Amino acid sequence: MGSFSLLSAAARRLEGKVALITGGASGIGEGTAKLFSKHGAKVVIADIQDELGHSLCKNLSHQSTSFVHCDVTKETDVENAVNLAISKFGKLDIMFNNAGVTGVAKTNILEITKLEFEQVVGVNLVGVFLGTKHAARVMIPARKGSIISTASICSVLGGSATHGYTSSKHGVVGLMRNTAVDLGRFGIRVNCVSPYAVATPLAKDFLKLDDDGVHSVYSNLKGHVQKAEDVAEAALYLGSDESKYVSGHNLLVDGGFSIVNPSFF
Ligand code: NAD
Repeated sequence: MGSFSLLSAAARRLEGKVALITGGASGIGEGTAKLFSKHGAKVVIADIQDELGHSLCKNLSHQSTSFVHCDVTKETDVENAVNLAISKFGKLDIMFNNAGVTGVAKTNILEITKLEFEQVVGVNLVGVFLGTKHAARVMIPARKGSIISTASICSVLGGSATHGYTSSKHGVVGLMRNTAVDLGRFGIRVNCVSPYAVATPLAKDFLKLDDDGVHSVYSNLKGHVQKAEDVAEAALYLGSDESKYVSGHNLLVDGGFSIVNPSFF
């Protein structure tokens, strides 16, 4: 066992569950892997950053955590990651499709190449499609499961610094809604979490955030800086049985940013 400690049995909200987290080696995925482990889940961390992923597993517990190299744009990698959850831990209860990239920041569509657009959509949307499909493959026979995908505030607003990012995140919500309808008859719930701005490696690059992140200038939560744990808590709710009647929902974890009229500030 690493330095990570579990809660008391009564307080563990994912006891007995098995989760797979893509993009689990860093940022929001890492924070979620830690929180899910703390709540008693067995966790498979799937990422392209092998060193980070292995080191996270070491800090959690080798008995209840596993790392698998997985590029979410490759169907065989996603299939293997899901199969590993089954072979190592016997089942898959929670699929967290969280891996994502921003692409090169360009606001002028004329400057964006087809390849740049496709690369972002490939990870953020096709990756979520593959994760959802292969999770469904093993959840349908079990007649239960919770599939959660990380969208973004950019799933409901325009104006981010890449067209591919905004398009892909809107697409993730569309896919979530369609699969929530498709898979609901098998007892499988499908939802999204949509963060605002967390100072992860992805956002530091993209939004030029420093370690403290951004204060929510236009949110209702003045002075609060969003952390990976805030998003992990939302994923914990959607993964746990406490949300057993919640499906087809895009849970905005944005401090109210998306509903505030900037002229009030
Ligand atoms: P991050 O860079 O810390 O983590 C992203 C992880 O995804 C990394 O570990 C990376 O290796 C992995 N990854 C990238 N491409 C991959 C691929 N092809 N296959 C497998 N793994 C891959 O960034 P983060 O902020 O934690 O991002 C997690 C998710 O949150 C993303 O979907 C991102 O779009 C979303 N999001 C983040 C913010 C924010 O402010 N940080 C806001 C809204 C949405």
